[in-house]
Amino acid sequence: MKIVILLGAPGAGKGTVAGFVCEQRGFAQLSTGDMLRTAVRSGNTVGQLAKGYMDRGELVPDEVIIRIVREYLESHGNDAKYLLDGFPRTVAQADALDRVLAEMHEKIFAVVQMDVPEWLIIKRITGRRVCKQCGDVYNLPEWAPKVEGVCDKCGGPVIQRNDDKPETVTNRLAVYEKQTAPLVEFYKKTGKLVRIDASDRHETDLNVVRIVDGAA
Ligand code: ADP
Ligand code: ZN
Repeated sequence: MKIVILLGAPGAGKGTVAGFVCEQRGFAQLSTGDMLRTAVRSGNTVGQLAKGYMDRGELVPDEVIIRIVREYLESHGNDAKYLLDGFPRTVAQADALDRVLAEMHEKIFAVVQMDVPEWLIIKRITGRRVCKQCGDVYNLPEWAPKVEGVCDKCGGPVIQRNDDKPETVTNRLAVYEKQTAPLVEFYKKTGKLVRIDASDRHETDLNVVRIVDGAA
């Protein structure tokens, strides 16, 4: 098993780079945000519980997230490669991940810290639009769908995520600073942390590919 963690603020581009690396290197993308949004759409128990937290820009309780990730890792093949996008997000989640991996006799390969200046983060989040049907991501104004509000890929409606509205973004950034930023110190101690400047999308793609290829 090869496990690479993407660590960075909301809007740092974790999902985008994950898509690229998965396509280029056959990694499976484990995005807890996507898993939760699917749960919310399906209306199952996890979705009902998660929706309020997500709409407010708060973190979903650790127990819920840890259970989802554990089930996912345990039900997938041991030889697979995973890119973790949006998990872990708290020290409790990072501890739990270490425990799950130890039980499976596995360990983390690398943790990529994606640094992006705050002004760019805010620009990216407020410009982000997603297809309600297939999840494809756009960014206004540079990277808009060809027809306004219509997905290039599937023709579905392109909308702004509830939690990308300005009133929630500020809260998400504060939650990141308080609950997720401490993971930088946590992973620094393991010697697995690689810091990159993630301002330029193309450069970020190439850097992360280089890291997952082995020079960590
Ligand atoms: P972003 O990285 O842009 O904030 P995500 O799709 O990763 O977006 O997360 C959206 C929301 O889903 C978060 O604000 C949070 O409510 C919830 N969420 C996702 N991953 C986790 C996690 N590991 N722990 C707790 N909550 C999570
Ligand atoms: Zn679509």
